[in-house]
Amino acid sequence: MDLYVHPEFEIVRSEKKCIACRACERQCANCAHGYDAASGSMESYDEKCVNCHRCVTLCPTKALKIVQTQHTFRPNANWSNDTIRELYLQANTGGVLLSSMGNPRPLPNYFDRILLNASQVTNPSIDPLREPMETRTYLGKKAIPLVRDANGRLTENLPPQITLTMPLMFSAMSYGSISYNAHASLARAATALGICYNTGEGGLHRDFYKYGPNTIVQVASGRFGIHGDYLMAGAAVEIKMGQGAKPGIGGHLPGKKNIGEVARTRMTPDGSDAISPAPHHDIYSIEDLRQLVYSLKEATGNTKPIIVKIAAVHNVAAIASGVARSGADIIAIDGFRGGTGAAPTRIRDNVGIPIELALASVDARLREEGIRDDISLVVGGSIRSSTDWIKAIALGADACYIATGALLALGCHLCRSCHIGLCNWGIATQRPDLVKRLNPEVGTEHLVNLVKAWQHELKEVMGGMGINSVEALRGNRLMLRGVGMTQEELDVLGIKHAGV
Ligand code: SF4
Ligand code: SF4
Repeated sequence: MDLYVHPEFEIVRSEKKCIACRACERQCANCAHGYDAASGSMESYDEKCVNCHRCVTLCPTKALKIVQTQHTFRPNANWSNDTIRELYLQANTGGVLLSSMGNPRPLPNYFDRILLNASQVTNPSIDPLREPMETRTYLGKKAIPLVRDANGRLTENLPPQITLTMPLMFSAMSYGSISYNAHASLARAATALGICYNTGEGGLHRDFYKYGPNTIVQVASGRFGIHGDYLMAGAAVEIKMGQGAKPGIGGHLPGKKNIGEVARTRMTPDGSDAISPAPHHDIYSIEDLRQLVYSLKEATGNTKPIIVKIAAVHNVAAIASGVARSGADIIAIDGFRGGTGAAPTRIRDNVGIPIELALASVDARLREEGIRDDISLVVGGSIRSSTDWIKAIALGADACYIATGALLALGCHLCRSCHIGLCNWGIATQRPDLVKRLNPEVGTEHLVNLVKAWQHELKEVMGGMGINSVEALRGNRLMLRGVGMTQEELDVLGIKHAGV
């Protein structure tokens, strides 16, 4: 007999308000609601509820709420309810615990301990409604000597660049882990905003080739969906060496999700498990990485910048230094709070380091070695707001990736159940009836609104600092002060304590 695992959530239905319309039953792909014809009343199955809020949102009489179960073990600082529950689950199944989205543990978030500066009296602030503020961003190698032709004119010898209207992009999320309509929303929003979205490792659906100038195409260890047209379609090619949510391991799209158009786009047999191995089987050194970087440059006629994406791990500065020497144009670093469609829970919650520390140490190391201009630096992994974004730029990032924030704008309620494939909001699912719930036009509009709001806030904060361009904000740690940190933490971040 299995060990009893009590449900995490309880569905609370007001009998006074419920009109038994059965909307919740129809809306819940997890089958957490039922109808008893004999009594004409609704039933709840708490054990199936993932707390995605679909029923709560769409109940016409607001008769529902989902609460954390009050069932509890005797309080114990070492053995929390979650720890005991997870242990029981493993004892019952013998399996690795799986979960989705970012690390939920209450580890330090350094963005919350960093405060921004503002001008007073001297160096006056700038009003972004009246003065031009430059947020345009170019990503790629910069350190090319100026060369003039016989007439003294500058020759165009800059390596290929990505041009963005602001230093922000949508991070890699594969078609397969998210739905067609979620990808369509990201692609259309990126195009409307003049930024980029990223295919992840699932290939590029043929419908989305028209968004190529705003697309980053990814090459991951499984090499799914990669061919000449795919590489040429995007604005840049990203080699994925690691991911913040699951450093050191590969990816796995179960056969039941790898069907139809998803399988065709990945160029894999319908219904087969799409497993990307932990390492690239042809990369065991920086020299090997360099070969892939240059193969991709050659395959794209030297017209696309090459991004190398790594996870933020303990010796990230040394790894980044190696990547910069591999010939890559851009390095993307993904922090340990980064999201995922599916990852082993223990790895997601315990492996890697915060992006704030990784970013500061990589930027410092590349500067020390005099190679900072050889490569652009993009970071992601729980950039939650415009101020996280602004602080990351001031710590040295050329641009940021957002993913969880973008999914929230599409309607995600962070139930962290993407790995089940039954996303009631039509985002992390391939079930046609669920995919339809996300209208790409509405999704695009929400993404555009979010990013425009952040851009406006970026301009306001920069104006308050008395600076009028992202160039002047980048790596400008004088604009940052720490609160409640040790000297060692401040040293790694390269900032002073507030009041100093
Ligand atoms: S959606 Fe609301 S009103 Fe309709 S059956 Fe469910 S709880 Fe009752
Ligand atoms: S994408 Fe869907 S399944 Fe995943 S956390 Fe958000 S609401 Fe839940």
